[in-house]
Order: sequence, then C-alpha cells, then structure tokens
Amino acid sequence: MKFHEMNASQVEEALNTDYSSGLSLEDAQKRIKIHGYNELDEGEKQSALLLFISQFKDFMVLVLLAATLISGLLGEYIDAIAIIMIVLINGCLGFFQERKAEKSLQALKELSAPQIHVLREGKWLKIPSREAVPGDVIKFSSGDRIGADVRIIESKSLEIEESALTGESVPVSKEAGILSVPNPGLGDMGNIAFMGTMVTRGSGLGTIIATGMKTAMGQIADLLQSAESAETPLQRRLAQLGKILITVALLLTLLVVVIGVIQGHGLYEMVLAGVSLAVAAIPEGLPAIVTVALSLGVQKMIKSNAIVRKLPAVETLGCASVICSDKTGTMTQNKMTVTHLWSGGKSWTVDGIGYQPEGSFFGENKQPVQVRNEKALQQLLMFGMLCNHSELARKEEELVLDGDPTEGALLVSAMKAGYDRKKLLEEYKILNEFPFDSTRKMMSVVVQDRQGKVFIVTKGAPDVLIGVSSGILKDGRVQTMAGEARTEVIAAVESLASKALRTIAVAYKALPAGRVILNEREAEKELTFIGVQGMIDPPRPEVKDAVRECREAGIITVMITGDHIITAKAIAGQLGILAGNSRVMDGKTLSGMAVDELEEVVEEISVFARVSPEHKLKIVKALQNRGHIVAMTGDGVNDAPAIKAADIGIAMGIAGTDVAKEASALVLLDDNFATIKSAIKEGRNIYENIRKFIRYLLASNVGEILVMLFAMILALPLPLVPIQILWVNLVTDGLPAMALGLDKPEENVMKRKPRSPREGVFARGLGWKVVSRGFLIGIVTLLAFMAIYNRHPEQLEYARTVAFATLVLAQLIHVFDCRSEISVLSRNPFGNKYLVWSVVSSAALMVAVIYYPPLQPVFHTIAIKPNDWLLICGLSAIPTFLLAGTFLARKTK
Ligand code: ATP
Repeated sequence: MKFHEMNASQVEEALNTDYSSGLSLEDAQKRIKIHGYNELDEGEKQSALLLFISQFKDFMVLVLLAATLISGLLGEYIDAIAIIMIVLINGCLGFFQERKAEKSLQALKELSAPQIHVLREGKWLKIPSREAVPGDVIKFSSGDRIGADVRIIESKSLEIEESALTGESVPVSKEAGILSVPNPGLGDMGNIAFMGTMVTRGSGLGTIIATGMKTAMGQIADLLQSAESAETPLQRRLAQLGKILITVALLLTLLVVVIGVIQGHGLYEMVLAGVSLAVAAIPEGLPAIVTVALSLGVQKMIKSNAIVRKLPAVETLGCASVICSDKTGTMTQNKMTVTHLWSGGKSWTVDGIGYQPEGSFFGENKQPVQVRNEKALQQLLMFGMLCNHSELARKEEELVLDGDPTEGALLVSAMKAGYDRKKLLEEYKILNEFPFDSTRKMMSVVVQDRQGKVFIVTKGAPDVLIGVSSGILKDGRVQTMAGEARTEVIAAVESLASKALRTIAVAYKALPAGRVILNEREAEKELTFIGVQGMIDPPRPEVKDAVRECREAGIITVMITGDHIITAKAIAGQLGILAGNSRVMDGKTLSGMAVDELEEVVEEISVFARVSPEHKLKIVKALQNRGHIVAMTGDGVNDAPAIKAADIGIAMGIAGTDVAKEASALVLLDDNFATIKSAIKEGRNIYENIRKFIRYLLASNVGEILVMLFAMILALPLPLVPIQILWVNLVTDGLPAMALGLDKPEENVMKRKPRSPREGVFARGLGWKVVSRGFLIGIVTLLAFMAIYNRHPEQLEYARTVAFATLVLAQLIHVFDCRSEISVLSRNPFGNKYLVWSVVSSAALMVAVIYYPPLQPVFHTIAIKPNDWLLICGLSAIPTFLLAGTFLARKTK
C-alpha cells in the first residue's frame, strides 16, 4: 500500500486504527499473531550439539582419545574407559561453561533492548519495541531510534538521520503532508520515518505501517548482520599466551617422554603418560573460564544497576583513571523546585517542595505577598508556564511529573500562584515551537493571544538570554539592556547561582502583525528580559562518598555541566569534587582552546561549566592524550560522539536517548554517579579474580609437569599414571578455579591506583608466583614419592598414591594463597564459601578415589596408611606455609 500518497485519515482507515486512542490491547495481541514480532531475523545460531562436539576438536584431546583407543585395543580396558569418561566429563564442563557464557550475553542483550512509546486504549505506554504492530500510534523525539516504519501524522521541527538506510549522514526534515513525487526513493520519503533511523531534532507522532522483516530495514537486514566482536583485550592476550603455553607445555612434555625413554621406560608407557600430561598441562579451558568470570561479573554489575553492553568494558572499567560525569540527574537528584525568583529589581521566595503545587510567596522582607499585586512576578511565572512542555498527571493521590524536571519546576511555581496551564492555553494559542537544545540553551514558543497579537516567549540560561535581549522590563516599562540595568541582572543571577540554584530566565517579544518567523535564530534575538527563577536540585546523598572513594582509588572525578559556572562550583564544592588546587573552566574558554592547549591544563580542571555536548569530545581527547583512561557519561544525541570516543562510554538508563545508549559500553539503570563507582570496583575485582585463577591453574600445571620431569631426570619410575594426572586436571584444577572467579574483592581494591591497560597478564609479580609455587608443588610431590619408593621399591603403586595425594593436597592448600596478592595470611581463608566447598568436595573425591575399593583399580590407588598422612600433609603444606612464613618475617622486620 502506498501510505505516503494517502492523507492522514486515509492511513487511519486503511490500518483500521484510531489516532486519538490507539489500538486496543486485544487488537494489538491479535495483530502480533498476524504480523509476528517486530524484529529482524538473526543469523543462524550454533546448535547445542555442534557446541558440544566442538569441545573435543582440540588437537591434544584427539591425540589422547586415539592413544586411549590403542591402549583399549591392547587390553587396558579399565584405563581406556576411565580416560574416555574423564575426557567426556571435561567436555561437558566446557560445554556448560560456554552455554552459560552465551546465555548470559543473550540476557544482557535483551536487557538493553529498545523500547517504543505507543498509544494503547488512550494511554501512552513504553513497551519493548518487538511488541509493536502495524496500526500502533507512536511518538518519538530527539534522540530516539525509530522502532518500525512509520507514517508521520504530526511533526514539530522533526529531523531524522537516515544513514543506516541511505548512507546519507546529513539529517533530513520530515513532515506529515502527502507526498506528490512520483515513484519516490527511500531518501525522498519525506512523510515516512524508517526503522533503525534516528531522530536528531524535534519530535513527531505517527502510525506504524510495517514491522519486522517487512520494513525497509528488514529488506536489507541480511546486509547488516555484522556481529561486533565481543572479545576483550585480556581474552585476546590470553589467546596469544595460550599458544605460547601450549608450545612450552608440549616441549616440556616431549622432554619428559624423551628422557623417560632414554632412562629405559617403555615407549608406549611414556607416550600415553606424555599425552595425558599435555592434556592436563595445556590450559585449554582458560578462555572459557575467563568468559564465565566476565559474564558472572556482568551479572553482579546488573544487581548494582549497571548494564554492560560491550564485554571489553568490564576490563577497561578497572583501568579507568578519570570519570567525567554530567551533573544534573547523575550527581544531583533532578528533582527541581523553584525557591527564588527575581524580576525588575525585586526578588521573592516561594516555599513548598517537590511537584505538589502548594506553597506561598514571600517578599524581600520575608513577609507573605499576594501574587495578584506583583505584576512582574506574574509575568515571570505565567511565561515560564507557557513556554513549557511538561505535564503533571494525577497518579493515585499524588501528582507526578511527565517531562523535563526543569520545566516541571516552572509549571509548579506558576501553579502555586494559581495559574492553570489549560486555561492559559485557551488564552494563548501556541503557533510554533523551537525546542530546547543544550547547545543553544534556550527554548521558544510563538503564541497568539485572544486579540490576535503574536509573541515569542523564550526561556533559557540567563547569561544566554541576557546576550540576546535588547531590553529589560522594569516597573512595567522596557529599559535598554545596558549599563546599570545589565549589571543588576547579572548580579541577581550570580547571587542565585551562588546558592547552588539552577537558574532559568524568561524573555519575550511582540511581533508585528503578519510577520512570520521561520527559524529560532530569527526568533531568539532582540528580546525583552523579564526575570529569573532559581531552583534547587539537591545532590544525591551517596555521591559525596563515591567521589571520595574514587579519589582514594586514584580516579579523578570531573563534573561537566551545562549549568551556570557559579551553580556548578557551589555543587561541586558540596560534593568534594573541587579539592586541592583544582579549577573550574567555562564553555567559552574551552571553545577558544585547541585540544593541545587544553591538554596542558586539563588535569587541573575538575569542573567544566556552561559547556555544550560538543565540548565533551575535546575534553575526552585532551585527557586521553595525557594518558588517561576516560569514562564519560551522556544522555543526548549530541553526547554520542564523546561517549563513543571515551574508553568507557556511559549512558543514562532513564534520561538517556536510544542514540546515547547505543553508543555506550555501560548503561546506568538508575542514572546515578555512585553506580559508576560500583561498576569500577566490580571491574577491578573481576580482573583480579581472573588473575587469581590464572595463577592457580598455571602453578598447578607447572607442578604437574615438573614432578614428572624431575622423576625422569632422576631415573625414577613415573610418579603418577595418566589417569591420575587427568583426574588432577579435572577435579583439583577445575572446580576451585571457578570458585576463585567468584571471589569477593580484597579490601584494598579501591585503595590502589588504576591498572595500566598495557599491563601484561603476568605483571605485578604473577609470573614469578606461578613459577615459584609451581616449582615447590612439583618438588614436594616428588619428595613424597621418593620417601616411599626409595624405602620400598616394590610398593610402586603405593608410592604413586602418596604422590597423588600430596599433589592434590598441595594444590588445594595453594588455592587459598591465590586469593590474595599479598599473602594467604592477609585474608580470612574461609571468606569465599564457594571455594571452601569446592576444596572440601575435591578433597572428598580424592579420598573416595583412594579408599573406595571399586575405584582403586581404575585409578591405580592403594589405601594410604594413617601414619603416611602426616608425611602427605606436612609436605603439601610446605609451599604455602613457606611463603606465609617469609611474609611474616618481612612484616616483623
Ligand atoms: P548536565 O546534565 O550536563 O549537568 P544540564 O542539565 O546542567 O546538564 P543543560 O540541560 O544543557 O545542562 O542545560 C543548560 C542550561 O540550559 C541550564 O542551566 C538552564 O539554564 C537551561 N535549560 C535547561 N533546560 C531547559 C529547558 N527545558 N528550557 C530552557 N532552558 C533550559
């Protein structure tokens, strides 16, 4: 159907909808059944079976299976079956880990799924975009991404950027009229808004004409399926490291085999042992465990209200050295109440808090005043209500605000004086509107009164309005905005701002009859200044502590705000952001500076005031050039470039536009600064946990290889048989490593400097820890073996069982050491209950393998005599306690 050629009511009829009340809920349900969900088909997903099979495609695992098969054919059935079982269990573990990682990533995607504003049964609702159907009436405004193909039926200065569809990055304006171009292309469809395009300016209302794969986007969806790589830098580095580790493990294994054969061991015996050792020593499961650790961390972050949209952000968060944050709504509550007013040289205060329109006005002498006697005050209040977009709706007993809190405050201050917006709109008809944007810092309406006179009413940042006003209203007369009059207004504004109030000025001008104003530049000049309203916006109570914690963690907090410099300074002072010799810079100074000039001073500045969103990019660049890892918040369309350029782009979940969210790596569900701090803390912890299990796994592997290598060099028999090695790899390594991934942060996690993003996996002494602990584990296992074997060479199986128990126990004790960068003694060893349980169950399984008769032939074990446990416990504790001892010695020194 050619909706672009129809007029609005024909479209309404064709789609069987109703512009005034939208679809009924029942009808919408029916339409979902007919048209399907409003989503684009995703590419083929990997099936569970394929994922399972892929667990066994590892080269060494295949070699092991082949070797096992041969040993089975040679009659070693029990060994063969046991090894295959262990390989299968290992595969299942890998499968579940990867599934879990995949599922939690999918759940994340759903959490940040787009929403759409639809009219259903006369009420405006926000629903998931996928539930929208043809015929739905929807509204959209600057910053929204259009959720389906829509025939526009109303528009206000609407501009849409369609580059996703047409490649054209300059926004085009859209209007409701009928299109008369014959056979228009996508780019000419001036009355249709397409799915996937974004509103860059103004607002509109329309009805959905196509959803899902039937949209213009759906028809080219195949071309668009380019999945973003979700690999984090650490994962990439680990993949590289993995290759090196595999080579090293293989070489060492080869060495074990060669020396073993030279020392007279059978080739077949050595090959099976070597392959098992290689399977055990190669940390093939590491990437999967890292992904699981990352995604578990992501789930924890959701609990503290931060949604990670891009997995690499989890890691980068731990490196953040500067947080640039918006003020309004992020550091403050964004619950505005007008408390002070000034007009024509007089000032007033008004009481009452929140959006309840009850309160009284007081004069300078603190005596109550009657608004009807105060002409200037009346005009200030009335025009503030007229040039306004917000509404107060009654919800149960309370009035709640629908719209911008700044405008809500102006609405409420006028209501306290008895004005009613509905009645006001009967007197003044709104002919046109130039919406607010953070760059102009103004908004205007063109209104006509009952006598047919036309006015422009503008409200906005006072310093901006002073600049575009040629006159000022005083005692009912217009004076020139110059000299004393000008100084007086500026002083009044600064006095309000120094009380940490957000200030909004109101101005107007009358238009000669018949004059048509086409754009805001023409409208917003030569105005007559009326006055200023000052509103409080209390800081969020938790922000002050969060700023302090960040400082202790070596992270600088920078406030970036569109507000007046004095207001910004006052609030920054209250929050402890302006500390030491940090400074404030305003947007004008910033505009005049090149990035390299800004770079020189940027680290001294902790408040940027009266800035436009465009400035944010410059700030990010300058900080990055100084070597900082920058987190930057934003909510509007204009914030998107800075959010994208920042190392961690953060969007607001409540106040943020779709465009800002899509550009971001992190979304704050509660728009709260303190949430950023929590996310950084979690980010640091996740990284530390990953280091912990890398340390544990690799030290264990080093121990396993070395015990075999030393035994071969000393011409001893194999101290462990293949099945024992595989068992250690599965039970002793796997479970505790996962539990380390869930460890709580160490106390000092927010007391040290941010990590450098260039830091390697083995930085800060990790490499040394892996090698030294691994060496000790290998040595004690060998000593345990020799203690038995040298005395009773005929008890080889018994000596192996003792070595096996020592290796397992040494690792299970060592795992507690891995919880801390400092020492096992610096934390309560039982603080991680997952770890305690995994260690207890690993130990119990080891006991079962040693003492349960049916398992003894499978694992080649013999029940250990109670006395020998003294030897085992003593030796296996050495690696951990030796190091704890040196730690204590150093401390007492
Ligand atoms: P931030 O979240 O960065 O702190 P902000 O809310 O302080 O943002 P803007 O929203 O860009 O910054 O507002 C800048 C100035 O514009 C405000 O100080 C105020 O004077 C004025 N202003 C804000 N909202 C409106 C509005 N709806 N209409 C007119 N003027 C406004």
